Amino acid sequence: MTEKLDQILAFNREFVASGEYKKYLSTKFPYKKLAILSCMDTRLTALLPAALNLKNGDVKIIKNAGGMISHPYGSVMRSLMVAIYELGVEEILVIGHYDCGMQGKDSGGIIAKMLQRGIEPQTLEIIRACGIDLDAWLSGFGDVETSVRQSVELIKGHPLMPRDIEVRGLIIHPESGELTVVV
Ligand SMILES: [Zn+2]
Repeated sequence: MTEKLDQILAFNREFVASGEYKKYLSTKFPYKKLAILSCMDTRLTALLPAALNLKNGDVKIIKNAGGMISHPYGSVMRSLMVAIYELGVEEILVIGHYDCGMQGKDSGGIIAKMLQRGIEPQTLEIIRACGIDLDAWLSGFGDVETSVRQSVELIKGHPLMPRDIEVRGLIIHPESGELTVVV
């Protein structure tokens, strides 16, 4: 077992035994009937809920690199469908952020690192030959406002999205937590 996991498990035993968990008790149905799609950026882990006054149990939060929807029938959209149809979500916020690691990223840099780490060029060729657009899949976005707008449009225009769902787009500052409404 790794040292990191050992530390986590030691803390966890104490967390459970002390009853610390009791202040987080809530339900799987989000009290605020809200879902948020945002970025996995570490600066936002505690800042985003704090800056929006969100407590455990309030919202469904879906996160990935860049807060992007890479496919209309991928896991982000599926999570939103479950959140709406099964868990009572009525409003969706797409929250991008300034200084995002996915901004201005093309696939070249990450593919070069894959090759350095021992992935065979042939593997990339096979994946491409299978019809997978690796470059599109690994690319980020040019401009965060445009990215947020596009995600909002994609969600609103999705054929399985109920028409009464409110979808808004915002940008959060990764240090101050200040929100700017985009759409
Ligand atoms: Zn980011």
